[in-house]
Amino acid sequence: MSRFLSIKYADLEPYVPGEQPQDQPYIKLNTNENAFPPHPSLSDAVAAEAGKLQLYSDPESRALRQTLADYHQVSPEELIMSNGSDEVLNFAFMAFCDAHTPAVFPDVTYGFYPVFARINQVPFRELPLREDWAVEPRDYFHAAGTIFLANPNAPTGIALTRAQVEEILQMNPYNVVVVDEAYVNFGAKSCVPLIREYDNLLVTRTFSKYASLAGGRLGYGAACPELIADLNAMRNSINPYNVNRMTAAAGISCLKDDAYYQRNCRQIQNIRSWTAGALKELGFTLTDSLGNFLFVRHPRIGGEELYVELKKRGILIRHFRQERIQDYNRISIGTRAQMEKLVNTLKKLLEERA
Ligand code: PMP
Repeated sequence: MSRFLSIKYADLEPYVPGEQPQDQPYIKLNTNENAFPPHPSLSDAVAAEAGKLQLYSDPESRALRQTLADYHQVSPEELIMSNGSDEVLNFAFMAFCDAHTPAVFPDVTYGFYPVFARINQVPFRELPLREDWAVEPRDYFHAAGTIFLANPNAPTGIALTRAQVEEILQMNPYNVVVVDEAYVNFGAKSCVPLIREYDNLLVTRTFSKYASLAGGRLGYGAACPELIADLNAMRNSINPYNVNRMTAAAGISCLKDDAYYQRNCRQIQNIRSWTAGALKELGFTLTDSLGNFLFVRHPRIGGEELYVELKKRGILIRHFRQERIQDYNRISIGTRAQMEKLVNTLKKLLEERA
């Protein structure tokens, strides 16, 4: 820290992204990226825009928002595009939280939520997940704050049903409920169809996971036009050109080739079930994950140790230091070949210690 950093950031603990070591090739199962590359047609769509980079992108992302509106059967006024869904989540912390309206989220969830609260200098309350790692909807009734729920949750992968989300919405009529659907395409039910019924609902989504576009940085929010207008006020006060030309074209291309991306998501679900079965046979306990990752623990090897041992063997998984989950690891679902390699490596590792 320099001696010039504003005192207001003295206690900031920035988000730590999953590591990307360059010392050797790794099987990367630590950042929940999609196991498959984008559709081949995406390169042409992006290249066509690269030749126009002397021009700013459309600050309203009109073509992309219209294509996405048709896709979700909503109107463009019900959508805001963002630079990854992280950005629209940050706009929500800015717009809907303050000293009297804390952010409220589970104790075990996406690690960026407390960081967004701190950078925006808003208080937050963490509500413990149940022992079985599920969100207890009743804990969020009359929450007296802006609720942030990843659905499915990360890193547990457990999802609320749409009816459970509706209960939470109904029990918080004076507060915004943000449903972060980063992983919804791998088996959970989306709440986007509820935005016309609930003016306190904001759904955030991303192209990073389901559409293999993590490196393109494209996310969005869906909500009633009034909430979207508030979020646009934040966006236009920070970076009106938040979605660049190439990424906007990539997004339209993904929506056009939706069948390809949906097929990949189904495939990832199949690989997830195969991997879960193989890990159970090796003695792991797992939650019922509906994300493109598994949340696992083994009775004979600690979370950090497992992470270290796998890294030595060329496989990266994610370990979290947070006390409640330090015996666990999050393993992203890769290709079938990558998961077979993981399972074989784990088998050997456990045999060596038997
Ligand atoms: N929400 C959750 C729960 C996530 O795990 C992530 C990815 N780390 C995000 C949102 C943000 O993803 P992106 O900014 O790539 O859209």
